[in-house]
Amino acid sequence: NWEKILQLMRENYDLAPVVYDTWLKPLQVESVDEDNHIVNIVITDPNIESIGLNFIKKKYSFILSISIEEVTGFKCTVNFYSKNQAENLNPQTAPVQEAADSSLLGIMQSANLNPKYTFDTFVVGSNNKMAHAAALAVAESPAEIYNPLFIYGGVGLGKTHLMHSIANFILKNDPTKKIMYVTSEKFTNELIDAIRNKNQATATQFREKYRNNDVLLVDDIQFIIGKESTQEEIFHTFNTLHEAKKQIIISSDRPPRDFKTLEDRLVSRFEWGLTVDIQSPDYETRMAILRKKEDMEGYNIDNEVIKYIATNIKSNIRELEGALTKVIALSRLDNKEINMELAEEALKDFFSPDQKKAITPEFILKVVADHYKCTPEDIISTRRNKEIVLPRQVSMYLIRFVGGLSLQAVGAFLGGKDHSTVMSGIRKIQNLLEVDEGMQNTIEILKKKLNPS
Ligand code: ADP
Ligand code: MG
Repeated sequence: NWEKILQLMRENYDLAPVVYDTWLKPLQVESVDEDNHIVNIVITDPNIESIGLNFIKKKYSFILSISIEEVTGFKCTVNFYSKNQAENLNPQTAPVQEAADSSLLGIMQSANLNPKYTFDTFVVGSNNKMAHAAALAVAESPAEIYNPLFIYGGVGLGKTHLMHSIANFILKNDPTKKIMYVTSEKFTNELIDAIRNKNQATATQFREKYRNNDVLLVDDIQFIIGKESTQEEIFHTFNTLHEAKKQIIISSDRPPRDFKTLEDRLVSRFEWGLTVDIQSPDYETRMAILRKKEDMEGYNIDNEVIKYIATNIKSNIRELEGALTKVIALSRLDNKEINMELAEEALKDFFSPDQKKAITPEFILKVVADHYKCTPEDIISTRRNKEIVLPRQVSMYLIRFVGGLSLQAVGAFLGGKDHSTVMSGIRKIQNLLEVDEGMQNTIEILKKKLNPS
């Protein structure tokens, strides 16, 4: 898992190999304090330790904790120690493996559950109200009311989160309950292995694993389409569990009736219990989800930034969260406060990857100069006559908002003007835009020239 965490960090934050090798490779998990949500990390290389301890703390503890959470679901703060310090650490803090196994967390892990996905962290909105209510009902009385519970909806809308919530809820109430969560893909792969093995013990083991449960959750069932032996196995697993009055929970990207090529006997079983859907979240729900996430991360982020994200990402909650994480991470990495400028910078590729990259500041400058019948050099110069000042301010405005450059970058590009000059130039245009139709037209036209589509 530790390898995976480091790998994830490396990929998500695009760390250069040298950065990775120097700062991250020497890190080892020393112990985990579950109660206080602390992961103690020891720096195994004394050279790095003497130079880098504080640096690593400052620069990487946040993204490391995010990555730990992403891989293990364990929310934590990280502490860094030198080897010496580590040896003197309180021996009560248990090594990772033991800590996990000796608690509910361990049980959750062996059921393949992510402890982070609970009802507490699930935001209820008009898009998922029904699904949430059904899920909670099943969690409170498994196998008594809706069996199976069939949840369907598009990608990243919370199906998996809801399934884990049910399982975690049940386990919390009764840790002796046997629960198994599996994606239909994993189920298929394990089945193939079991068949290939031609070993009766393996086959029996596989059946035991999935049939000997109080609750079985099968995620993304659509992947069994076209897989004959998986369908057959699911069918029998379903029957065994259902007859024994055990709870079955299934998720899918479509309702049962849309499984055109799936055998009728399977489809009809999916419809025995209750089928609920999750739709795309509306604006309010998106805002609420971002707020919740912000809360959980312990941040207090500008309303404007939250709105900006909620407005631009509409149909996938995973992306919604990803956008917020990106903003937070950039703020930590660059040590800057979270504001609109930073958010736009962090998300410029996120929202429209191709469009914005193509419109370079050079191009904008040229288009503006052409429009005002002056030259790019005029605009970049420091001359303050009226004929030049307005095109300069328009350039600032467009390079900032169409080109997506930060205030500093705009200033640097326009011959090294400082950030407050750029700011007031942009303000000027914004004020004009509110009252002056001529300026509205000009900006309209220039934007069209810059981006004909
Ligand atoms: P799906 O399984 O439908 O593709 P997931 O359950 O994996 O979607 O959800 C994607 C991400 O969005 C997860 O991180 C999940 O925690 C989050 N998420 C989805 N719905 C909600 C919600 N209603 N409240 C809070 N977080 C949510
Ligand atoms: Mg899912």
